[in-house]
Amino acid sequence: MKFEMTKYEGGWIELIVGCMFSGKSEEMIRRVKRAIIANQKVIVFKPAIDKRYDKDMVVSHNGIKLKAVVVENPEQIYTMSRDYNVIAIDEAQFFDKTLIEVVEKLAEENKRIIIAGLDQDFRGEPFSIMPHLMAIADTVDKLHAICVVCGAVATKSQRLIEGKPAPYDSPTIVVGAIETYQPRCRKCFQKPTKTKVYPS
Ligand code: ZN
Repeated sequence: MKFEMTKYEGGWIELIVGCMFSGKSEEMIRRVKRAIIANQKVIVFKPAIDKRYDKDMVVSHNGIKLKAVVVENPEQIYTMSRDYNVIAIDEAQFFDKTLIEVVEKLAEENKRIIIAGLDQDFRGEPFSIMPHLMAIADTVDKLHAICVVCGAVATKSQRLIEGKPAPYDSPTIVVGAIETYQPRCRKCFQKPTKTKVYPS
């Protein structure tokens, strides 16, 4: 199932998606390392929002590291990619829609773009620009995790705030709260639902 780039010099967009702990960063690191072995000029980007682990490293949950350039916006990715032919972007779901334009432009310039990101948010809904990126990509690989409740194949990310499933309207990014994520299957996923609030 794993996609493998062969000799090809045109533009190419590949996506690695899935829930939390599905091994997206690990797979991206694997592809990047192989591109480096193939003497490609590779640069790795990640959004400034992702403050997990090392600041300027792409780190997979099993601890494999890769040096990454932290950027504030997609325009910076475009500007800094000029001298490279393989561009990897981690945590793509945190970028705004300008990333779509930037990625298309880079592909027009015959670059290979490897993008990793969450396909669904904690509500089980499509995550920001990811559906669009999945549509325009040349390849999409959807990775899975293992459900921590029952051990089945997991495709959902359950968000827990102080140990309880986060409500639907909790902001996508909570600063300072003790929150964790669990990979869960469709059956064990407690889907946050919209609650109607009536004035008292
Ligand atoms: Zn399960």
